[in-house]
Amino acid sequence: MIPLKDTFWQAESWQQQMSGMIRDPERLLARLQLDEEAQPETAAALKQFPLRVPEAFVAKMAIGDWKDPLLLQILPLGEEMAEHVDYVNDPLEEAAANPVPGLIHKYHGRVLLIASPTCAVHCRYCFRRNFPYDTNNPSQRDWQHALEYIAERPEISEVILSGGDPLSPPDEYLQKLISKIAAIPHVDTLRIHTRLPLVLPARITQNLVHVLSHHRLHTVMVIHCNHANEIDSATAEALGRLKNANITLLNQSVLLKDINNEADTLINLSRRLFDVNVMPYYLHLLDKVRGAAHFRVNEEEALQLMRAIMAELPGYLVPKLVKEEPGASSKSPLALL
Ligand SMILES: *Cc1c(COP(=O)(O)O)cnc(C)c1O
Ligand code: SF4
Repeated sequence: MIPLKDTFWQAESWQQQMSGMIRDPERLLARLQLDEEAQPETAAALKQFPLRVPEAFVAKMAIGDWKDPLLLQILPLGEEMAEHVDYVNDPLEEAAANPVPGLIHKYHGRVLLIASPTCAVHCRYCFRRNFPYDTNNPSQRDWQHALEYIAERPEISEVILSGGDPLSPPDEYLQKLISKIAAIPHVDTLRIHTRLPLVLPARITQNLVHVLSHHRLHTVMVIHCNHANEIDSATAEALGRLKNANITLLNQSVLLKDINNEADTLINLSRRLFDVNVMPYYLHLLDKVRGAAHFRVNEEEALQLMRAIMAELPGYLVPKLVKEEPGASSKSPLALL
């Protein structure tokens, strides 16, 4: 095996990095100098939810470490195929809150638009890993329906771009979509939930920042960072560009076994986020999605971790521990006492 030391991708555009991302487990293992012989059984898991990871994210992983907390987020494992009674395809019952294709309306005042079915990375714990994107891959005509739905409901003041990853499409597409949203008078806030500043920081070009910040809406970006190691200098620079454009930066994490279920790991994460101008927002209990049971941290342990981090961090660096329950009117906070 020849260790690949190259950093060829650093000179590539984000589009090149996206299309050249690693999709083949053998290439990933070679890149990290992991012994293929020791590779856990992956074929079935791969078929269910393919591997996708950009070089820029792999570059933040330790060489030769099967337990690397970033690797564990994306490495397909045979364990995913184990069936668990409570773990289902649509744990949040989003299908029941999907009034028009590409739009999910569960909470008062805000709607979620599936702005793109494509992600730059496949996270093994993803609650949308089984989402029917083929029927929620909005065409321009579907946008019209989703926008009409919003326009007819004056109580909707915030539009959340989600996915997939809403920053996967080209700038022009986003520009058009955002201008249509901004044309609805009662909408005052645009929110973007994305992993791209972490997994493909080259995506945060000056032009994108311009598109995201030059309209009349408040812009909030929620990044999904689970571990401090995800924030390297390229990510810090990307976040700096967003911050300079007055975009409010928040983070949500998922509590994941063997990845971030240690108090020190969560404390470091909050501190590292603060270094790069991002405020902790939510720490989510894992949604019970089929294929992700091995990542689950139980509520008792989650509450213990919260007590430990609250004992060390200022209140503003403590994320809210929440879970999502189908039919609830908001995320459900877990009581600490
Ligand atoms: C999480 C979520 C939101 C946003 O909830 P906040 O508590 O405002 O962050 C909105 N819509 C849907 C469908 C969601 O799952
Ligand atoms: S939707 Fe988010 S969590 Fe799911 S695979 Fe895509 S980037 Fe990962």
